[in-house]
Amino acid sequence: MSIKETQQMIEQMLGEIQHDEAFLPKLKGEKRQRVFRSGTEVLTTTDKVVKSYIRVSRDNRTIERIPAYRIQHNNIAGFYKGGIRFSEAVNEEEVENLAVLMTLKNALHNLPYGGAKGGVVLDPKEYSERELNLVSKKYVQRFAPDIGPTHDIPAPDMGTDERVMDWMVGEYKTVHPGENYLGAFTGKSIDNGGARGRREATGRGTYRCYWWLVHKWAREQKDKEELIPKGEHVKQYENLKSIYKKSDSGELIKLAVQGFGNVGSVAAKMADDCPDLKHHVVSVSDHKVTLFKENGLDIPKLVAYQEEYGHLPNTEEQLFKAGVEADLLDRDAILTLNVDVLILAAIEDQITEDNMKDVKASVFVEGANAPIRAEADHYLHSQGKVVIPDILANAGGVMVSYLEWKQDRITQFYTEQEVLDEMYEQMEESCKQVFTEYFTKGINGIRNTCYQNSLKRLFTLMYKHGKLF
Ligand code: NAD
Repeated sequence: MSIKETQQMIEQMLGEIQHDEAFLPKLKGEKRQRVFRSGTEVLTTTDKVVKSYIRVSRDNRTIERIPAYRIQHNNIAGFYKGGIRFSEAVNEEEVENLAVLMTLKNALHNLPYGGAKGGVVLDPKEYSERELNLVSKKYVQRFAPDIGPTHDIPAPDMGTDERVMDWMVGEYKTVHPGENYLGAFTGKSIDNGGARGRREATGRGTYRCYWWLVHKWAREQKDKEELIPKGEHVKQYENLKSIYKKSDSGELIKLAVQGFGNVGSVAAKMADDCPDLKHHVVSVSDHKVTLFKENGLDIPKLVAYQEEYGHLPNTEEQLFKAGVEADLLDRDAILTLNVDVLILAAIEDQITEDNMKDVKASVFVEGANAPIRAEADHYLHSQGKVVIPDILANAGGVMVSYLEWKQDRITQFYTEQEVLDEMYEQMEESCKQVFTEYFTKGINGIRNTCYQNSLKRLFTLMYKHGKLF
């Protein structure tokens, strides 16, 4: 989804909430219209956009100025929070859209944060460690007045990791001597105050969301089927049933994962190991290649290869080195393979008007942010396919970031089990709320249900803080 599509959805959902008399019932008539107009104006616009050019001296002794952003969308629910992305595809619209999605995601999961995002326009694979260290420090210097543990708290995103967060927090400490610094960044290494399990949290949470919907929710509906409204809702429910029945019959669920980084590799491993739903992970992909094997890829070997070389094997020699058998297909072939479940864990705009009619999966899980364009989302919904939206599925990372931020304030650290238990509990709570509401109230779209829940929370806070008249 683009920023325009996200803003249009916010406007449309607030329009629907306005007509729901049970929401803020004391707000009536002309005043209700005015207050909703104001709320729409606030939530479809962004608090602050900061752009800077970072000066980097390259190893070849040339000087480069690289565009960098920090964009803060809204902080009514708490301090701004959102990742920093290093990618050559970063641009202002994309960063703004991701900041809006963070506001909605944090509100949906009841986290005490607002939404922000950062980005630097560079391909990290083209820069040495020294150059990346310099970029990270310069980023903190440039945006120093806008970040901090009680103002705006960045985290890793695509192309950044705990090493970058450690560098950034180190620089933050230098720039702000004597201040509380640990909580200024999350996603740090454990030695540096990071939460155990943070790196795996988004992939685990993404898989948990899908697992909960199919294994917990769909299985338990047997006695309550009549509560599900007709039309797409029934088709979707039938699709979910067919997934767990396949697993139970021993046929195995065919699952594919696009993107094999932090999120995708962990989600693939969870699916491969899952005792409740039996999968063949038939395909995984990265920025160069799709790997396919009809009766399931060797995921542990691929994870080990990815950890050593930073990408999937993409030639016959590399497959041999990895000890993996697979067909080598084009990068985008994964999107239209004949599978039951497709986890999207790479980048934005992967399923669009151009390929939406060719996709075969019946369940899509958005581990990445905004991988499905609005037009394609509507089409898939009309076909009775299930799309588990980004703001619901990929919140495991920010949930664990919240635990990291909390533990850094008191310097008492959670165990990995405590982190996992809290994240799963919170994720399942959110899933229960969204899917129960969606399937029993007949709301037009799972994404719409998520947006409505988030917007109701944000709107209530703005109204109660006396910010809307
Ligand atoms: P990452 O950099 O670790 O991995 C990205 C993966 O996507 C890599 O395997 C890369 O090769 C692949 N990729 C890039 N372009 C591709 C393309 N065109 N086709 C197929 N694969 C491609 O990033 P990540 O942290 O795993 O993040 C992936 C997505 O999840 C992003 O959209 C990010 O915003 C989102 N996300 C990440 C987190 C987190 O905690 N890491 C949290 C929430 C959302």
